[in-house]
Amino acid sequence: MKENVITIEPDQCKGCRLCVEACPRHCISVTSQINALGYQFARFEQKGCTACGFCWYVCPELGAITVYTGEKVS
Ligand code: SF4
Ligand code: SF4
Repeated sequence: MKENVITIEPDQCKGCRLCVEACPRHCISVTSQINALGYQFARFEQKGCTACGFCWYVCPELGAITVYTGEKVS
């Protein structure tokens, strides 16, 4: 079984932290780096993501977050 993951486009993130607070598994943090918009941006830490989509639902920046469910490998 592959792990569930999300991707966050650094230059579409405004660092609002809504996804950080929404994630029940504490998978997301905000970096100290600055993106092209001048914001510290969110980063996926890849620990125990359930692909619940909460981060995607709360993110105000359309397209910043994409959620991928793990695929079963036979
Ligand atoms: S999909 Fe759910 S568990 Fe995964 S990072 Fe987003 S909020 Fe967290
Ligand atoms: S909710 Fe969206 S804009 Fe806000 S920190 Fe997370 S990825 Fe960035």
